[in-house]
Amino acid sequence: MGKVYLVGAGPGDPELLTVKAARLLVRAGIVFHDSLVSREILQLVTRDADVIDVGKRCGQKLLTQDEINSLLVSAARNHEVVVRLKGGDPLIFGRAGEEIEALRNAGVDFEVVPGITAALGAAAAAGISLTDRRAASQVVISTFSRGTEGTPMDWGTITSTTTLALYMPGSDYAEVAHRLREGGLPDDLPCVIVSNATGAGQQIRWTSIGQLAYEEKLPAPALMIVGRVASQKIREISNSFWRGASDGRHAPRTAVS
Ligand code: SAH
Repeated sequence: MGKVYLVGAGPGDPELLTVKAARLLVRAGIVFHDSLVSREILQLVTRDADVIDVGKRCGQKLLTQDEINSLLVSAARNHEVVVRLKGGDPLIFGRAGEEIEALRNAGVDFEVVPGITAALGAAAAAGISLTDRRAASQVVISTFSRGTEGTPMDWGTITSTTTLALYMPGSDYAEVAHRLREGGLPDDLPCVIVSNATGAGQQIRWTSIGQLAYEEKLPAPALMIVGRVASQKIREISNSFWRGASDGRHAPRTAVS
């Protein structure tokens, strides 16, 4: 019986792969990867290993999650080292929870190898400190593409000092702006869109919730960093923050008073 490694491939730049991930790719007998994983990273896999793309293409799932789970379990019977390679970190919007459960239930040994998640890659690309002490006290990792359709986001944790890392925002920026406003976030709140963070073709767009609907769409994968830290004029923004600190810091649902 082999072991399954759930490995993070990082946000794009192959150099951001961990040493452990790189070593496992060389040792792997079989690799199951998502479509977000770059070709350069897959080139680390030895030639005689099987490399299987289990990712989504053009909105069509190649395999269901249950099928992937079964593949992992059966691969562990035939290979000493099985790598399940995911973009970013496997534990952030990566369905690793379901795979871990299946492996546990089947009694298959596994290990999670963390990777740099897209929000951290995007923050690095834009030079944004997600927890800049002048303007932020918490980071929320979130997405709209969760739960049943039409269910409003639970924005209960968003305050004026929250930095929101919005994964899978989609290409309808007007809709994103609408949903952020619905959550009480004001039009002048800064927002940065980062496309292909740390990878080839990286693009960064500095905007605000009010301007978002008018921005040209950036190619996927992209994420948004929303909050006071997402500004190149953080000093000005933080000045107004400190003036209103006693209200702002404890405002329960709205972003800026
Ligand atoms: N496990 C991954 C996230 C998978 S969900 C991680 O930890 O990063 C896929 C979403 O991640 C994309 O829709 C996009 O919002 C974000 N993403 C992944 N790679 C990205 C990149 N290089 N640049 C910007 N966003 C990225």
